[in-house]
Amino acid sequence: MKSNKTIPVQKNEKHTVKIEDLTREGMGVAKIDGYPLFIEDALPGEEIEVKIHKTGKSFGYAKSMKRLTSSQNRVEMKDENFTRAGITPLQHMHYPAQLSFKKQQIKNVMKRIAKVSDVKILDTKGMTEPWGYRNKASVPVRKIGEKLTTGFFRKNSHDLIAMENFYIQDPKIDQAIIKVRDIMRTYNVKSYNEKDNTGNLRHIIVRRGYYTGEMMIVLVTRTAKLFPASKIIPDLTEALPEVVSIVQNVNPTRTNTILGEEAIVLFGEDKYTDTLLGKTYEISHRSFYQVNPTQTEKLYNVILDFAALTGEETVIDAYSGIGTITLTLADNAKHVYGIESIEPAVENARANAVLNNVENVTFEAGLAEEVMVEWSKQGRKADLVVVDPPRKGLEEAFIDAVIEMAPAKMIYVSCNPATLARDVALLIEGGYTAEKIQPVDLFPQTSHVESVTLLTKN
Ligand code: SAH
Repeated sequence: MKSNKTIPVQKNEKHTVKIEDLTREGMGVAKIDGYPLFIEDALPGEEIEVKIHKTGKSFGYAKSMKRLTSSQNRVEMKDENFTRAGITPLQHMHYPAQLSFKKQQIKNVMKRIAKVSDVKILDTKGMTEPWGYRNKASVPVRKIGEKLTTGFFRKNSHDLIAMENFYIQDPKIDQAIIKVRDIMRTYNVKSYNEKDNTGNLRHIIVRRGYYTGEMMIVLVTRTAKLFPASKIIPDLTEALPEVVSIVQNVNPTRTNTILGEEAIVLFGEDKYTDTLLGKTYEISHRSFYQVNPTQTEKLYNVILDFAALTGEETVIDAYSGIGTITLTLADNAKHVYGIESIEPAVENARANAVLNNVENVTFEAGLAEEVMVEWSKQGRKADLVVVDPPRKGLEEAFIDAVIEMAPAKMIYVSCNPATLARDVALLIEGGYTAEKIQPVDLFPQTSHVESVTLLTKN
């Protein structure tokens, strides 16, 4: 154990430490002889008695045993299990401190990764009531004792912790999950057993329109059977009158991916609707839809403000999902082109244009990087390119195509500051200036950081 020489602590030792910083995930950081220790439920400035839990070559993990001093930014936790499950890693932090923490993270990556220190970073737009905001829940189903149980996995594991109140979800969704669970228990539906890939019900997903109250239930099962569906469906719709759609999604694979390829519509159609900034949207069980509706409206208003459209512009909205940003911008633009890779989302987007009588939009199904390269080769032009990619950010080919197309403005909606900063660095190299960044808190109590960046062509 040669490398142990440089590690100044050993498993199970007790130490008193002072928290100096927070990781991106919101864990406290303390150092012993320069060796960093990561500690859950620990805030900067606090003195804590910890027990060393795990040691690695360059950092370790410790458990808080006793807090000796408390930060003024500390608030009481709703439920310790939530930190254990990694659902709300910031629940012990006063909400205004969470908002500053998120702004600070963007500042850090802009300096460290993008090497820009002059971009204006605005204060994070937060919620008045930062709980009960999620319009979608995906809860795993396992057997605990003899009972089919719903809850959440312990962090980095698949051990189910039974839970009924999730606090950050729409309370109507929490109640719906309990009702679905109880009906499944009544009919002795078998919960999925991951170890030997037996049993059937893997996940219960509930989505609910914030403005419409329409509910969709997705039952993810291992096999196409759902015995006895003819009894379960009427029971579900009677217990939950808001339900407009019940879909069974079959996922026979042994992966962490929740949804499988096959879907069977058990009730209604594979869609429910909600509204955003006054427009109505159809959403299929496969389609992405932002989980925090009121904050999404704030986010889109920031996009509208940064876009400052006059009605003359050609706009490209890449990673357009069901077309929410596309249709929001269409009112003030000449034409908006959406690009989206998931076919059912593109179908939703086209239907949503019709539903809202919007005619100046076109949706292209395909990979954003391939479509943009093609369009730039064809010499197509745009005044504004909006992007809203998943966590991994943009492909270099996409960025090169934007630089080639040379729109006067680009708006980058990001859910991952690290990839945002990496991509902004490339855009700056390509002749753009990062003007300002507006963080919007879409995920209170969690460490996720969402932001909108305005870039202009030099
Ligand atoms: N702008 C939408 C969706 C953002 S989420 C909204 O605000 O609701 C990101 C979207 O990008 C998802 O719909 C996902 O299906 C899509 N996507 C992921 N990778 C993609 C790629 N390479 N090309 C095009 N779309 C992609």
